[in-house]
Amino acid sequence: MADISEVRSVLADLGIARELLHDEARLRAHLGLDSVDLSELQLELAERFGARFDPWDGHDPTVRQLADLVGAGEAVARAADAYRRCGWWRPDLLDQLVLDTRTHPGHREALVGDGLTLRRAELDAAVSGCAARLVEGGILPGDNVLVQLPNQPRFVVLVLALVRLGARPVLAPPALRAHELGPVLSAARATAMAVPGPPHRFDHLRMAEGLRERHPSLRTLIVPGRGDPARGHLGLDACTGSGGTAAVHGPRYPADTALFLLSSGTTGAPRLIPRTHEAFGHVVRASAAASGLSPETVYLAVLPVAHGFAFGHPGVLGALARGGKAVLGTPGDPAAALELIERERVTHCALTPAVARQWLTARTAHRGRDLSSLRVLQVGGARLDEDTAARLAEVFDCRIQQVYGMSEGLLNLTRLGDPPEVAFTTQGRPASPGDETLVVDDRGRPVPDGETGELLARGPGIITAYHDGSETAAFTPDGFHRTGDLVRRHPSGGFVVVGRVKDVVNRGGEKVPAGELEALALSHPRVHAAAAVPMPHRVLGEAVCLYVAGGADGAPSLREIRRFLEGAGLAPFKLPDHLVELSALPLTEVGKVDKARLREDVRVRAAREGGERDGGCGRQPPDADGPCG
Ligand code: AMP
Repeated sequence: MADISEVRSVLADLGIARELLHDEARLRAHLGLDSVDLSELQLELAERFGARFDPWDGHDPTVRQLADLVGAGEAVARAADAYRRCGWWRPDLLDQLVLDTRTHPGHREALVGDGLTLRRAELDAAVSGCAARLVEGGILPGDNVLVQLPNQPRFVVLVLALVRLGARPVLAPPALRAHELGPVLSAARATAMAVPGPPHRFDHLRMAEGLRERHPSLRTLIVPGRGDPARGHLGLDACTGSGGTAAVHGPRYPADTALFLLSSGTTGAPRLIPRTHEAFGHVVRASAAASGLSPETVYLAVLPVAHGFAFGHPGVLGALARGGKAVLGTPGDPAAALELIERERVTHCALTPAVARQWLTARTAHRGRDLSSLRVLQVGGARLDEDTAARLAEVFDCRIQQVYGMSEGLLNLTRLGDPPEVAFTTQGRPASPGDETLVVDDRGRPVPDGETGELLARGPGIITAYHDGSETAAFTPDGFHRTGDLVRRHPSGGFVVVGRVKDVVNRGGEKVPAGELEALALSHPRVHAAAAVPMPHRVLGEAVCLYVAGGADGAPSLREIRRFLEGAGLAPFKLPDHLVELSALPLTEVGKVDKARLREDVRVRAAREGGERDGGCGRQPPDADGPCG
């Protein structure tokens, strides 16, 4: 099977400039736009790889990707042209958009957290200084660097510094573990990884050292404190400390990948989502406008800032881009969040429905706090029910804005002027005027308005491929992203999310791919069959119920299987909340596990076992690292 580096070397031999080769978006545009002789490319590929496979046959993902690149090149280039003409894609780079000190004065406060306040000019200087120190430490333009840091100003400084020097940060929430991060490091060929510090309950450094042993590309660990070059450790304190020399960066282009987000994945490990400066910049701008962000905005991030929602949808980047201030709070501590709102005069905050419910409880215990600055509570990541929406609006005396989006780029929001019946019952409409959406049946045909179907989306903020062209089934041949969500259109023009076709449990906003959990559970010697389904849960919305069939010795208990999965490096939020042992799992006519029956069974169990009280899970509180805090 051809390796992408081999294919790249063919392209290099054909005179395609080196800097294009590690940037898929520019390569696509180039192939579509420029004078590359595509037949020559085809011949060369056939000659180099033809003995092993037919390059245009589509069996090899790398070559299929190239075939797609060539085939789709013109359409992509046409779309890119239109996006630029309409002003949706602009020439500024992401760090320039966010740190602009020409439009927004440098003396204004920009970033608060960890007892630190940075003004815009200070933040800009810290980013430049950090970029320079990273280069001294061996991080180069074109490097992919996994950043797994909690909500701290250092996260923002490091990420923007990497962007500024032309390296690509891969944003990974601290809740992820070796099982998820291993494949991400491989796919990214990451050369460095930033590791959270000791206050975290889990020994991230040990995990990172273990990952480094297994991933030869990973040379450097960016660690808290001063670092020890002899151990390949670069000190985060020194890198992100105040001051610094002039910005260091090579040639950068708006169509370059600025950073990678991670998809929550539907089958296995998270996928790398390349976000170019111009496409991600568009998402930041469009969502910031739809959220009413301005220089007066004080945005509080209490969801993990490595996730798209709190990062750039519109999140911290949106607040900074509009000249406002971002405050970084710790996930999982509603009382501390209310204190921050009072102290920093917070105007905007993003929550998942699970966290929103915790806030309602916390507000009762902290009635004395002055939260009068709060203007907008954005709620997304999972479906918000109408009752909770109405209670939030009343208790916090602010607008409720529903946000239904995904890291792949489609972002829907209700608008601040929407009447309550729209704001409370729909999940919003696209932030971008350039987004095209289709609601289709299982054969891909559009359904009449108001009927349920899968949502497909294409637009200036939405990717048309994952990194290295993996999971091509997630895109239609004409470039629509298949969201995997079942929606219907509301007369207001927005969407109502009614379910999903993808096999995922949405645990309080954290996505648990069923297939991944099942495959790992099956590696337990006493599990012969496994199926994960969502179980109704009062706070989380959905919890994870694992059905297992064991052999003669019986299946492991919930505690045993959790310990086993944790030992295999699975993120804690993916561990099953509930276990049901059956002698055999029900099967469909074609011999697949009958998940519809299991979903019905778990619903009945949840109701019977007091599920409406605690989801029938009756176990530990949600992981403090995750959105459900
Ligand atoms: P992620 O890429 O991790 O942000 O997950 C995106 C997925 O979360 C979407 O495809 C939906 O399945 C789900 N999701 C996000 N926001 C909402 C919402 N407001 N209502 C219902 N589901 C949502």
